Parts: sequence; C-alpha cells; structure tokens
Amino acid sequence: MKEVLYGSTRGSGEKITASKAILKGLADDGGLFVPDSIPALDVSLKDLSTMDYKGVAYEVMKLMLTDYTEEELKKCIDGAYDSKFDTEEIAPLTYAEGAYYLELFHGATIAFKDMALSILPHLMITAARKNNISDEIVILTATSGDTGKAALAGFADVKGTRIIVFYPKDGVSPIQEKQMVTQKGDNTLVVGIHGNFDDAQTGVKNIFGDKSFGEKMASKGFRFSSANSINIGRLVPQICYYVYSYTRLLGEGKIADGEKINFVVPTGNFGNILAAYYAKQMGLPVAKLICASNTNKVLFDFFESGTYDRNREFVLTSSPSMDILISSNLERLIYRIAGNDSARCAELMKNLSEGGKYDIKQSERDGLSDFYGNYATEEETANEIARIYGACGYIIDTHTSVASAVYGKYVRDTKDETKTVIASTASPFKFTRSVMNAIDKKYDAMGDFELVDEMAKIGNLEIPNAINEIRTAPVLHDKQCDKDKMRDVISEFLGL
Ligand SMILES: *Cc1c(COP(=O)(O)O)cnc(C)c1O
Repeated sequence: MKEVLYGSTRGSGEKITASKAILKGLADDGGLFVPDSIPALDVSLKDLSTMDYKGVAYEVMKLMLTDYTEEELKKCIDGAYDSKFDTEEIAPLTYAEGAYYLELFHGATIAFKDMALSILPHLMITAARKNNISDEIVILTATSGDTGKAALAGFADVKGTRIIVFYPKDGVSPIQEKQMVTQKGDNTLVVGIHGNFDDAQTGVKNIFGDKSFGEKMASKGFRFSSANSINIGRLVPQICYYVYSYTRLLGEGKIADGEKINFVVPTGNFGNILAAYYAKQMGLPVAKLICASNTNKVLFDFFESGTYDRNREFVLTSSPSMDILISSNLERLIYRIAGNDSARCAELMKNLSEGGKYDIKQSERDGLSDFYGNYATEEETANEIARIYGACGYIIDTHTSVASAVYGKYVRDTKDETKTVIASTASPFKFTRSVMNAIDKKYDAMGDFELVDEMAKIGNLEIPNAINEIRTAPVLHDKQCDKDKMRDVISEFLGL
C-alpha cells in the first residue's frame, strides 16, 4: 500500500506521517495538513456493501492513515463505533420526500461530530504511543456548539489528556449549552467567551501559533492538539460515512453499481463537505456536492463570484453550528484547486487574515465544478421543517433543514433527477425550540423539556439518552471570559 504523508497547505514541503499530523493538529506555519495523494478505494463497492460500518470504516481509513497498523486501526474503530451509538447501523438512511437523509446523529451527543470525535481520542492516544510522546495532550477546541460536547464526551477521563472548550456564550442553543456545562471529568474545562464562534476559532488558532506559549507549555510537560475539523484525524473518519451510505443504497438495490449520486451537506467550517469531496477523489461515484449555507452565506457568494469575503455582519440563526464566516477547511480545497501550490494558498490566506477577503482566478474557479452552492433564509428553513413534517411526519433539525431547502432550490434550478443523499447532521432534539416553533407557533409557550416530550409525542420518537441525561444534571462549569483572555484561562487550568 502506498504511504500517505501530510504536508501543510502553506508550507515548504516538509511532510509527516498521519499519526504525527493528528498529534499536532495544525501545522507550525498556521496551515492545515493535507494528504500528499488521495488513494483510490481498493475494495469494490459491491464488497463494501456487504460490510458493516466498522468494516467500511477500516477499508477507508487504512488508505489515509497508513502508518497505523491494521491492529491499531481496528482497535480504534472498535472502541469508537460501539454501544455509544443507539443503532447498530451507526449511520442509518431514512427516505423522505424525494431524498435520503443520512442520519449522522445517533452517537453520544446527537450531532454528526460524534462520527469523528468518538474515534479521535483513540487515534490520538495511539499516535502518542507510536511516537513515544509522554507529554500530557491538551485538546484546545473552539466550538459553535456541537464539536465542544462531542469532544468533551470523547476525551473526558481519557488518561494523558485534558480538554478545554471555548464556546460563544450567547451563540449556542440552550440544549447545546446545557450539554456542555454539565460535562463531568476532572480533565475537562468549558468556557463561555464574550464573542462569536469566529472569535473563538481565531483565538484558538492564535494560541496554537504562539511559540512562547507553546514553550511554556512544553516546560511543564504539556502539548496542544486540536479536536476541530482542522485536525486530519477528524476529517478522515468523516469520509467513511459517505462511502457507507453509497454502499447501503447499493446493497439495497436502490442504485446500480457505479451510478453517481449527489450529496447535500449543511456547511459551516467546510469539514463535512470536504470529507465528501475526498470520498469522491477516492473513487466514490459522486455527481454534485451541494454546499448548503444559512444566512451567513459567505460560501454561496464565493461559489457565485470567486470572491471570499468575510466583511459582513455575523448573523445568529436557528442553525448555530453553521454560523461561521471563516470556513477553515475551505483552505484545503483552495490548496487543491490552486494545483497543490502552497505559496499561492498562503498568499490567499494572508489576504483573508489581513483584509478579510481574497479572489481566486478563473483557472482556480474551474476546479470548483464538483460543487453547487446555495443558501436558505430563516424563513425557508422553518418552512422546510414544517413541509417535511406535514408531508410524512419526519422531523428534521434546523441544520438538516437548511440542506433540505437548498436541495429543493437545486432541483428547481437544474431539474437534476440524480438520486441524492442529504447529510442529516443533528437530532431535532438538540434544537427543539426552533424545530417545534417551525412546526407550529403555539409551541413557543412551552418550557424546554416540555417541548422535548411534545416532540417525542408528535414525531413518534424515542427521547435520546443525551437529552434525558441533562434534565437533572448539575451545572459543573460556569467560567466566562473576554475573547482576549483565553490564554489566562488556559494558564490557570494547567497551572502554568
Ligand atoms: C458542525 C455542524 C455543521 C457544519 O459542519 P462543518 O463540517 O463545520 O461544515 C452542520 N450541522 C451541524 C449540526 C453541526 O454540528
């Protein structure tokens, strides 16, 4: 098997193994690690269709994480995709109103982040062992709501690690916040920052790039890593469910072998859709990758015009996990469409950090032909939830609804009849109030947990464990800080 090494999108060409890239998270020059080649699937789609989730996951990940042994990788996979998920299928497909919804929310924290964050701690601990690292690994994470809880759940009480999560104090749903601040585990810290997600993410990236802070950490036996989708250890596990969903449709005779399908992905940081793009590069028969944005439609404008411009008002929406103006993982796509030219990529990213925008050339725009971008307003998002529920009783969350509404626009625009899978990224129970209000305004009078019970009733659904757990759980974290005080909070927690 060909060894895959990882280099920086902005770097001079030094390449490291997958396990080292996972340990580091972000490259020293501030760039993101990208594979030096994307290997093709070496098992037929037909054979993959007879395997379970773990089997498919192994066949995909072995190609990208080539310095992990078969035994190591299988152990990581077994430790991740177990009874933490409430269905043996791990990521089931539900057909509703002309599309297949790929339910990625059956893990411990009921959002798609569990798909990767239930395995990342295993990959990281294994990486530390392989590379003889004895430092304590400090996971530093910025969250728009879902990564934080999924990372906390994954790393809580994992020996040799600590985890610090920064979330925008007023930018997450009540259930998301409750999930995070009730997190147990002596190695966890949750902090609400006075700012938005971009502030939190930029703060974390700056701390990663702060050499003197890194040295202070190292002198006390700590090293940082990241659980954000800038870590290649998050991206690779996300490729698996695209391959899995295709092979389920194939196994059930819903598509022919080799038939192309579309994926629609509700997008924020561009991690999930990038994984779908990598799946296509590995040979999965994919037609269009449909990138769905909410009112923060910076990506839609980019696909339309070739200009990425974050100079605009940041809007809080009912799909908070997509309230992002700096989509970090887009850098990995830029690098690719620029012909793997790290100097060009670095130049564009410098424009972004200095002036908040960059323009790509026509030749680079041509590389975006795999993608279609559109967005849904708040009203369109609410209407889509009501439409799907009214038509068939299926309840989708706000993020999934953005994707579903954008798919409707895509079909109207293009008349494309290609079979389509929509990534369903969160359980509706995570955004109960917005979802129930979309179905009927009368629900606005109810309390948060009353709404949960009502949703279970009208949707004929079981209330997920993740929700039942927080009904009575005590708040264990109440720290808040200004966005320029993140270093102080970290120093205090680690005793630097
Ligand atoms: C994180 C998240 C997204 C956005 O995914 P990206 O990989 O950041 O594009 C969409 N929906 C939900 C529910 C999420 O938690």
